[in-house]
Amino acid sequence: MIRIFSKNIWNCDKEKFEKGVLEISGSKISGYQSGDPDLKKNKQKVLDYGDLFVSPSAVDLHIHSRGFLESHKESFETLEAAALKGGVSAGACMANTFPRLDSPQMIREFFKFSKPLRVKLSPFAAVTKNLEGKNPTDWDELLKMPIAGLSDDGKPLLNEKLFEQALVKTKKYKKFISLHEENTETSCASQLHLSESSMRLGIEGSPENSESEMVARDLAIASRVKAHLHLAHMSSAKSVALIQAAKKKGVSVSAELTPHHALLSVDQAEKYSYVDLSRFKVCPVIRSREDQAALWKGVENGAIDCFASDHAPHSHFEKDRPYKEAAHGMIGLEYYFPLYNEFRLRSKLSWKRFFECFWKNPAKLLKLDMNAADLIIFDPNAVQTLDWSLSKSSNTPFAGAKIRGKIVEHWIAGKKLYGI
Ligand SMILES: [Zn+2]
Repeated sequence: MIRIFSKNIWNCDKEKFEKGVLEISGSKISGYQSGDPDLKKNKQKVLDYGDLFVSPSAVDLHIHSRGFLESHKESFETLEAAALKGGVSAGACMANTFPRLDSPQMIREFFKFSKPLRVKLSPFAAVTKNLEGKNPTDWDELLKMPIAGLSDDGKPLLNEKLFEQALVKTKKYKKFISLHEENTETSCASQLHLSESSMRLGIEGSPENSESEMVARDLAIASRVKAHLHLAHMSSAKSVALIQAAKKKGVSVSAELTPHHALLSVDQAEKYSYVDLSRFKVCPVIRSREDQAALWKGVENGAIDCFASDHAPHSHFEKDRPYKEAAHGMIGLEYYFPLYNEFRLRSKLSWKRFFECFWKNPAKLLKLDMNAADLIIFDPNAVQTLDWSLSKSSNTPFAGAKIRGKIVEHWIAGKKLYGI
């Protein structure tokens, strides 16, 4: 048995930090006592972390793993290294790999690569073949496998009937569907949020309602079918308001906030040089300060209940291009905890709400063992300059940013896997 003492251990029942001792037996947390450790008993076995904070690690519901034919962007090994440093011990990976995760055979391939990793990854299987929104994948076969659920993320499900059928199926198998909400007929290829900034930069703007209209449609369908709906990477104030209203009516819905939608607003695109501007390009686009404020409020009041990185590595030759041609997406895993900790500090979010979004709610969606000894040990106030050195890609607007929060150690299943 290992005993960990700190003046700041997360008490999962009281949902606050306090002085205490955590006991780990094998891969599980086997006990907890608040207050000082009994040092006379087992003195040599207590690891004393002093003022450092000890808490559950993160579960990230939105990872683009790459690998397979895109191992030049990220391999499963570099993905794991970034996740360990960022404090992510488990996550769900999207189906838009090459080849796509749209058949039982490709899901088996995914498991072949992900099983040896210590970070626990479950894949989403595609809703439609090649994520084209037309022909369903073999939902019954796929949903019997140990996958997170279904998602065509990267692409929306414009066909309403198909979405409803997929939702009914995920309900039957007690899994969930994660939706990329974008009306591609009106989103103008999601270049930049339609705003004064997009006009000044001479980039075609994507209106807010290309997201919120889809959110409204799908909340109505989920309400009718009485199935759980998960909304990926929310970006707009109207979407947040719709989710809040649906939750009040009893619709079962969960929604994500990415680090970039939490920390950036579209006006900041104007500070980039022409060469670097493509780092800001992501889908859905980063919207106005008012949208950002609504997202912050949404996390606080429960409309948004999960953090998720939307980690999307791209090589230089796909990202470092003129803005309109550059690929969408940003990396996020390596500094997952620090970015959300910075958001917590700026938005004055409570620790209780932070850990609901960082760990509890996503862990419940993936039906993970809440007693697993998956822990981070961190200093929430240490300032660090983000160097983004572990992924194979470096596409992030946070390169060189000074952010508060540093992970000192990361344990998974009772073993220290990151830290000195
Ligand atoms: Zn997406």
